Amino acid sequence: MTEATLTTESAVLADAATRTNTRKVFIKTYGCQMNVYDSERMGDALTSDGYQAVDTVEAADLILINTCHIREKAAEKVYSQLGRLAKLKKQRNAEGGDLMVAVAGCVAQAEGQEIIRRAPVVDVVIGPQTYHRLPQALARARQGERVVETDFPAEDKFDGLPNTSPRAIRARGVAAFLTVQEGCDKFCTFCVVPYTRGAEVSRPVDRIVQEAQRLVDAGVREITLLGQNVNAWHGKGIDGREWGLGELIRRLAEIDGLVRIRYTTSHPRDMDDSLIAAHRDLPELMPYLHLPVQSGSDAILKSMNRRHTAEEYVRLVERIRAARPDIALSGDFIVGFPGETDADFEATMDLIREVNYAAAFSFKYSIRPGTPGAGMEDQVAESVKTERLARLQALLSEQTRAFGRQCMGKTVDLLLEKPGRNTDQLIGRSPWLQPVIVDAKVGKIGDIVSVRITETDSSSLFAEPA
Ligand code: SAM
Ligand code: SF4
Repeated sequence: MTEATLTTESAVLADAATRTNTRKVFIKTYGCQMNVYDSERMGDALTSDGYQAVDTVEAADLILINTCHIREKAAEKVYSQLGRLAKLKKQRNAEGGDLMVAVAGCVAQAEGQEIIRRAPVVDVVIGPQTYHRLPQALARARQGERVVETDFPAEDKFDGLPNTSPRAIRARGVAAFLTVQEGCDKFCTFCVVPYTRGAEVSRPVDRIVQEAQRLVDAGVREITLLGQNVNAWHGKGIDGREWGLGELIRRLAEIDGLVRIRYTTSHPRDMDDSLIAAHRDLPELMPYLHLPVQSGSDAILKSMNRRHTAEEYVRLVERIRAARPDIALSGDFIVGFPGETDADFEATMDLIREVNYAAAFSFKYSIRPGTPGAGMEDQVAESVKTERLARLQALLSEQTRAFGRQCMGKTVDLLLEKPGRNTDQLIGRSPWLQPVIVDAKVGKIGDIVSVRITETDSSSLFAEPA
């Protein structure tokens, strides 16, 4: 999951149908695509509750911060943001108005009551599994209660959330997220997710298919299936057999009008034959796979509880590439996990050279309180982490640039997704998830167009009609 890279503001939730709604909400999202999806769904719940999305804090009666807890200082950053909101609330009260503040997401889950204690400005603290209770929590807060909703309820939050309106779907664009799986039972020793998101749960096939159909009916052409461990998804199939993600994708590929399917984030241990075969057989399944390995050292992988070796990962990549030769690989890497020696780090560099990534996300190990890694001896010095990360990122950036250069002169299909910075440009995505800038005359948003890549820079490609 490409977390901590996405910051969505509530403008994306804007829904003209809500113009008659009187209350105004500003939603700020930190973290991964799953948080973006959650914010959208909380936006749906708030729309039904009479709220309209606005894109400035000043215009809002309610500020909802959807937080991420994956790395250090996340909670402290939230507290300092809440400090700023306290001033705004004071000013609002002095002017005879009011402002409600709600904290959602993994920091809400991890900190719970502590947020209420430390930040008097906060009215509602709501964890990732209780979003369907947000309107009720706000109603209680309006009565003066300071609400904390951080349990893991038995009921399915998705069943308690209203369907997204076709108008809101259209406002969000032609490429949509759809969460199919949540939580994690893997307990990697560095990671807070099993504690903040809870146990692994898969949504049922019929709910997923219905949601996908609704998205497509409203104009969506590409769906990215989301899960903390999306390929651990499993469920009872329409044929009565137990399905894995490969079978689910086959079923979704039957939906008329759904031309592109992606999924993220996958764990190497859950890449089964059926999912690999789906990459071989389904043109709708895009040739891009985010498959984090974290480290190339077996000793570190063991200590991280990843439950595979570097060699097993490399062999898995070979099998995937044999099934879908043009597949682009992306990964996550952690440097400076406790006990990581120079030799362990060099093993990671070797693995990167062997696999050759099209894209990657890399991080310094960050101690997460309550995880086994936090108590490990041999924590690596910050200066060593910094130096290793710089070397690793230089190698990965060079691989990404080389991947871009390889695309030069190629004819590729683009899904046109949004206007470019210049009014005469559109931005589309290649099958390999690269943003490609084209002349707006090539088509309209939602079209798949065939273009020839003519130029690359560090982050984008440029193309002309093929
Ligand atoms: N489930 C996915 C997997 O198994 O690879 C990853 C999900 S996690 C939300 C996203 C990424 O954050 C991880 O792949 C890891 O690289 C990074 N990450 C998680 N905990 C971290 C920590 N304590 N320090 C640094 N990076 C961390
Ligand atoms: Fe975190 Fe590991 Fe679960 Fe991924 S598999 S969410 S890294 S515990």
